[in-house]
Amino acid sequence: MQITIEGLSQIYKNGKKALDDVSLQINHGMFGLLGPNGAGKTTLMRILVTLMKPTKGIVKVNELDLLKNRREVRAMLGYLPQEFKFFSKLTTWEFLDYVASLAGLTHGRQRKIAVDEMLENVGLFEARDRMANKLSGGMKRRLGIAQALIGDPKIIVVDEPTTGLDPEERIRFRNLLADLTQKDIIIILSTHIVSDISSTCTDMALLNNGELAYKGSPDDLVESVKGHTFRIEAIDSELEEIKQKYPVIATLPAENGWEVEIVADELKGFSGQEIEPNLEHAYVYFMDYKLHANPDEFRGNGGTK
Ligand code: ADP
Repeated sequence: MQITIEGLSQIYKNGKKALDDVSLQINHGMFGLLGPNGAGKTTLMRILVTLMKPTKGIVKVNELDLLKNRREVRAMLGYLPQEFKFFSKLTTWEFLDYVASLAGLTHGRQRKIAVDEMLENVGLFEARDRMANKLSGGMKRRLGIAQALIGDPKIIVVDEPTTGLDPEERIRFRNLLADLTQKDIIIILSTHIVSDISSTCTDMALLNNGELAYKGSPDDLVESVKGHTFRIEAIDSELEEIKQKYPVIATLPAENGWEVEIVADELKGFSGQEIEPNLEHAYVYFMDYKLHANPDEFRGNGGTK
């Protein structure tokens, strides 16, 4: 499976440019789309799942043009939006059975097996006779996951994957998705939470203000900020100045004050030691520091634009 996005732009009726000339290739496996609120992630997701036509640009799924072959592409899609509404009159089982029939599972007995199995997978089998719209928040989210996965979709798009899930459910969901990557399918996770990306995705993009700020592997992104992450030992009175000068990742109490983890190109006026960067450091470096410190240079050399 492969999705090719070329020169994609979206301008809303009020003139807001939510996507600005985005080009991107997404191959099979788990792909993370990371960016702050308002970056344009939902807009991109909605275009990919054929809910919205872009102002400009091309999207291809394998050789199929998304705009010309909407029905074929739709048949390959599973989508879990941020907020999921359930019909008020269906039980959990009936709802999933209904979605399964829409997803092309027309054979009654096979569909029943698939629905039971999926409810089991997401831990809702015991709740199968409860009204779907009366489930708890976490359970609704799990039913949302089930409806996105039923019918063997080839492309699964998940908006804010960990919203509404407790830590245990997060792990279960992650494992569920990780199992799926054995197959030739694409899973796109769109999120503003860095840790949603780090443990699962082999490939990713950073979106900021409608523009693509980075595309590549999470490992390469982390590698690119080596030498730009530091730990400073600070006393109380220095803390404020540090916060003003640098984006702070963490502030930890230390023997004589604080240990402050920051990103920077160089340390000016403070002494500290370099530390190994992680994805969170890299995200903050690209989004808060590099972009704001020197936007022109960033656009020229930073990502892959
Ligand atoms: P994200 O999912 O990354 O938070 P969105 O795609 O929802 O970002 O939004 C990107 C930008 O487009 C934001 O500034 C948002 O306010 C704006 N936006 C989203 N939907 C609409 C709309 N229907 N009309 C006008 N502006 C919109």
